[in-house]
Amino acid sequence: MTAVAPNASTEILQQLIRLQCVNDGHEDSGNETRAADLLRPVVDLPGVEVQTLGPKANRQSLVARLPGTDPAAPTLLLLAHTDVVPVQPADWHQDPFGGELIDGWVWGRGAIDMLCLTASMAVAFRELAERRLALPGSVVFAAVADEEAGAAWGADWLLQHHRDAVMADYVITECGGTPMHTPSGMKLPVLVAEKGSAWTKLIVHGTAGHGSTPLIADNALVRAAEVVRRLAAYRPLAVIHDTWREYVKAMEFDPELEATLLDPARITDWAVAHPDRGFAADCHACTHMTMSPNVLRGDGKTNTIPGSVEMEVDIRILPGQTADDALAVVRDLLGDLIEHVEIVPLHGNWPATASPVDSPLWRTIGKASASVYPDARVVPAITPGGTDARFYRDLGATSYGYGLFSHELTFDHYVAMFHAADERVDVHSMGLMEGLWTDIAVDLLG
Ligand SMILES: [Zn+2]
Repeated sequence: MTAVAPNASTEILQQLIRLQCVNDGHEDSGNETRAADLLRPVVDLPGVEVQTLGPKANRQSLVARLPGTDPAAPTLLLLAHTDVVPVQPADWHQDPFGGELIDGWVWGRGAIDMLCLTASMAVAFRELAERRLALPGSVVFAAVADEEAGAAWGADWLLQHHRDAVMADYVITECGGTPMHTPSGMKLPVLVAEKGSAWTKLIVHGTAGHGSTPLIADNALVRAAEVVRRLAAYRPLAVIHDTWREYVKAMEFDPELEATLLDPARITDWAVAHPDRGFAADCHACTHMTMSPNVLRGDGKTNTIPGSVEMEVDIRILPGQTADDALAVVRDLLGDLIEHVEIVPLHGNWPATASPVDSPLWRTIGKASASVYPDARVVPAITPGGTDARFYRDLGATSYGYGLFSHELTFDHYVAMFHAADERVDVHSMGLMEGLWTDIAVDLLG
């Protein structure tokens, strides 16, 4: 492949990575105002209305609007987030906040999730403003805070307090658009649905005592270890829901794989053993309620047996399942330990959401993608993760997750890089996305 010259969005991506807008869930983290300030001059052109909005000085979001000529025409929102999740630097082969460009790839936390999209959306928005197209419909670019920790300082807050500024008929946000090859040709997943969440805290009780006499102790940490073991051993039967069935059919995999992916009795074992770990994990997550104990906290001392410890469990639910269903599963898994465990639902629980596939935005995405990959077909998919699209779906907007990536970036690699080490994106993909967003806006709103 020939070398691809860096484009405008590549440079902005590098700068965004270097800002280190790390959101660890605390209200004084993130500091996304710096990203809003960085992006403001990119989109602040004549004819554009630009605002910086947020509930706290350090958690501001940037909202830029290019008004259409017809107030009755639809509005398209390019919905980006500017925060990133924390890193474990020792696992990285490059500086996670260096934003270095090495052999055509930009390295750093957020390169995939989702600063590549954020940067390319900003550049595309500027391009639209510079062209002075006088489109009937309006385009809004929002670079929002706090996507990674529930959006209470970002999209959720903006929709509650400044709905007129950020509401739209059509919304495009993160994930999707990674080329996938099947026997019938290339497919490009568009995320039309996402799983729900039922994050849960478990407070495991014991009796405090002296660490030197464990025989008579009732150690909450030891009990918590058994709780973790039981949660991790959860192996439900897969649920073949409609969105999954439509995705598998549209992908046109080989018949053997299709049969496996639609068989609740076979898909789990297949996913455990499949060598493409990212693809397998995605297939597993999209068809199962998953339960991942991710935090264990105790205010202990080496010589003190803990009287209680807390754990946090990331539970993700499928279309049709509720948070109550998840709690029933947790109670069941705890079994005889339940009398020692308090179950506390955490903030940020929501059901699965979906947008209709048959929409003007769907057709526009298909057209814009075909100009880059003429033989590819867009396929409706569900993501196991949560995005800000859910807030918009709740309000009736058609919201999809999309992007457009080069052949260099395989789906397997893409999935494996989310919230993980050595996150990076290629310059070629950045250029594709710049063009994609402008093409979509012109086709949809023109
Ligand atoms: Zn994201």
